Amino acid sequence: MSVSKKVQLEEIFQCTRCGYCCQGETTVSLDQDDQQRMVEELGLSREEVSDRYWRITDGIVQMKVIDGHCIFYDEQSGCSVHRGRPWRCGQWPLHPSILSDENNFITIGNSCPGINQDIGYEEFCVKLRLLLAQQGKLIC
Ligand code: SF4
Ligand code: SF4
Repeated sequence: MSVSKKVQLEEIFQCTRCGYCCQGETTVSLDQDDQQRMVEELGLSREEVSDRYWRITDGIVQMKVIDGHCIFYDEQSGCSVHRGRPWRCGQWPLHPSILSDENNFITIGNSCPGINQDIGYEEFCVKLRLLLAQQGKLIC
């Protein structure tokens, strides 16, 4: 009899809310679904959201950056648009590229203290693959 093992997200990642991933002079880009979700979450018109919160360069929509961090980042409470955040924000730091190259695991682990590097690369990948199989699109 085969026993399927359930993996919990916390076994490989627990966000410390350090805010590091919301810092920098650029942000992730927003696809059409992201834009729509953010507009709905903020309850404003698309034009208002665009004027207040987006930086659009050559058709690429990103979030504005203020004081070196995403405009939605709040030092006290973290992401102020959490439910309407871009999917790439939700995916971070469990990017599938980790599975194809240990260097990506190390690089991402070095920039995200929530990654459990203690279990080692091989075991991390086993658990991440199981999580992806369990949940499909993995949102952290
Ligand atoms: S860098 Fe990692 S631990 Fe820090 S807030 Fe981002 S996801 Fe959480
Ligand atoms: S949308 Fe939220 S999670 Fe994404 S970079 Fe901005 S503050 Fe961080």
